[in-house]
Amino acid sequence: MEESARIEKGLQALEAWALPAIEGVEELEALEQIRIRVLGRKGELTEILRSLGAFRPDMRREAGQKANALKAKIENALQQRQQVLRAALHDGLAVQDAIDITLPGRPVRQGSLHPLTATLYEIVEIFQRLGFSVAEGPEVELDYYNFEALNIPKDHPARDMQDTFYVTDEVLLRTHTSPVQIRVMEAQPPPVRIVAPGRVYRRDADPTHSPMFHQVEGLLVDHGVSFADLKGTLQAFVDQFFGVGTPLRFRPSFFPFTEPSAEVDIACMMCKGTGCRVCKGSGFLEILGAGMVDPAVFCMVGYDPEITGFAFGMGVERITMLRHGIDDIRLFFENDLRFLQQFPAL
Ligand SMILES: [Zn+2]
Repeated sequence: MEESARIEKGLQALEAWALPAIEGVEELEALEQIRIRVLGRKGELTEILRSLGAFRPDMRREAGQKANALKAKIENALQQRQQVLRAALHDGLAVQDAIDITLPGRPVRQGSLHPLTATLYEIVEIFQRLGFSVAEGPEVELDYYNFEALNIPKDHPARDMQDTFYVTDEVLLRTHTSPVQIRVMEAQPPPVRIVAPGRVYRRDADPTHSPMFHQVEGLLVDHGVSFADLKGTLQAFVDQFFGVGTPLRFRPSFFPFTEPSAEVDIACMMCKGTGCRVCKGSGFLEILGAGMVDPAVFCMVGYDPEITGFAFGMGVERITMLRHGIDDIRLFFENDLRFLQQFPAL
């Protein structure tokens, strides 16, 4: 009976501390420590149950029932406390990791066209609306198409080695988009109404010249085309590109492949024609060269010399620089994002 009483006392003591301890515990880890202390392999209740093996069978049954009843009670308390603590932990994480749906989203960074590409597209679109179609030609060109067929004889200064990148004596990097005119006229009879955009190359590099730059060439050939048609076409372009009513000025000039020839200016957009540093006090800015196609060029491509036409060419870099007030052509080719990001979605 003494042993039985000792077991009973042990169970009461165990119950007295274990159940309040389980109720009061705040951490899952501490709860696990209590479980090990009571029910682990060397736990207090485990030891008690093990010690029953030495008892007489009738005593063992009675004590065993009490011990197992306490075991079930403690297991139940452990399980309930565990559920409470897990739920609290989950709620805590939910608060900690919560997504604040009231925060504004991060903007998706959108690319934009390079300012030169945007200008080129815009120029081409304007002429397409005027009925011109787009023609292209090779950048590595024959001397014949770049010079000879455009009425630029062998001794012309434009052929100077200083200006042209030669590959061989007869092959070069085109110095202008004008050879496309010749290729188109060789390939089709009149009428012709094309613009030829593309890269051209010259041995030149300073703040306003790049060894590679872009031109847009225009050519219109038909019967009875006059200088007035050229003027009207260019005024229509300038109105759309620089703004309606932008004053236009034609100055006599010389190009081997046009006669008569003109350089075309627009009123300076910095000073509105009153004169400033950008226009060097003249009030005007040169934007393109143009003229009536020289009959000698028509002869070279086998057209009737009585046919008429006009041609014009403009530098895309120059026009972009004028429009945006950019003073160094090299900015276009350095790919500095601080520069490029100033031209969003042009
Ligand atoms: Zn000015």
